[in-house]
Amino acid sequence: MKGCDTTCIGLAPKHVRAIAPYQPGKPISELARELGLNEPDIIKLASNENPLGPSPLALAAAQDALHDMALYPDGAGFALKAKLSAKLRVAASQIVLGNGSNDVLDMAARAFLTGGTSSVYAQHAFAVYPIATQTAGAQGIAVAAKAYGHDLAAMRAAIRDDTRVLWIANPNNPTGTFLPWSEIEAFLSSVPPQVLVVLDEAYGEYLPPAERCDTAAWLVRFPNLLISRTFSKAYGLAGLRVGYGLGSTAVIDLLNRVRHPFNVNALALAAAEAALDDVEFLARSYALNTAGMAQLVAGLAAMNIETVPSKGNFLLAKVGDAARINTELLKCGVIVRPVANYGLPEFLRVSVGLAGQNARFLDALSVVVAALSEGVSLGTAALQPRPDPGGRKACL
Ligand SMILES: *Cc1c(COP(=O)(O)O)cnc(C)c1O
Repeated sequence: MKGCDTTCIGLAPKHVRAIAPYQPGKPISELARELGLNEPDIIKLASNENPLGPSPLALAAAQDALHDMALYPDGAGFALKAKLSAKLRVAASQIVLGNGSNDVLDMAARAFLTGGTSSVYAQHAFAVYPIATQTAGAQGIAVAAKAYGHDLAAMRAAIRDDTRVLWIANPNNPTGTFLPWSEIEAFLSSVPPQVLVVLDEAYGEYLPPAERCDTAAWLVRFPNLLISRTFSKAYGLAGLRVGYGLGSTAVIDLLNRVRHPFNVNALALAAAEAALDDVEFLARSYALNTAGMAQLVAGLAAMNIETVPSKGNFLLAKVGDAARINTELLKCGVIVRPVANYGLPEFLRVSVGLAGQNARFLDALSVVVAALSEGVSLGTAALQPRPDPGGRKACL
């Protein structure tokens, strides 16, 4: 024990020991254990998951694939890439599959970053960018946000001679901020070709149709562009872990060198392929999100709680003492995401859920905020969740 503390652990590279680990949303099972609540009484609006569950077509395809689980998956992901290639009008050689799109982001960092290089990202941008950067031994450069979002001019100015990667999430998580594609396109034209621009489109399917963009068509002009997309959000497959990257054949070839063999499992490959066909499910997910977002925005406005306009499936609410309010919400069986680790200690991020879940969050929040503003400290005893999970009053 002692020997290991003074040798292997102490000798792990400084840049690894300096990494602030990713903080995931609290699982329902964990909260149930901690507070002695029943799992069905808990709602989780903390990880931007699809409240409709998975696409039924994807579920059926995964069930079929179960029988082959003794076999390694197709390590090249031929069938899924073929389908993506036809749909997105890019060559299969321009597609890399990932164990979630986080895997693609990490491949980009490992392929392009090393000690003595740097990457640029925005303040309040997705936590995986600094983590992937530090993992590769490179230095992260966080650029001050503009209205909670990316300040492209400042990001352009922050590029140094040693910068090899620049990360943009559009829309961004956790802020939900969005930049018009014309600004991103102009920015790409201004970035030196030795910098790989990673354009993270995890929430692209939630954009209104008029604001969507065929960014894959840009790859012809920008060989230093890598687009990442995921099946975790609108397609409802977060638990399976599957996403993909689109880039020039040369960039994708590099990512394939650092990609782990068989990184996407057989169930995920089958489900993702089927999910691409489920146009109806995608439309339903979009419509539910639009309605749920309006419900949350209106509900929070009615409580005089400020929000940051969001184009994703989540919303930042400026609640003040977010840590305290989060603790009280948990006692009500409502899991949302505190974002102090993103430099936003006054905010909670709530994912758009089903109408009943959104209502329960709003009710719980109003109860908690009212109690705290009256100086009443709500003990666990006062905050027993009601047995009816669909109930309008969350607690008390
Ligand atoms: C959720 C999210 C992803 C997707 O991660 P997966 O690994 O595909 O589940 C990627 N980028 C951002 C900004 C996200 O919020």
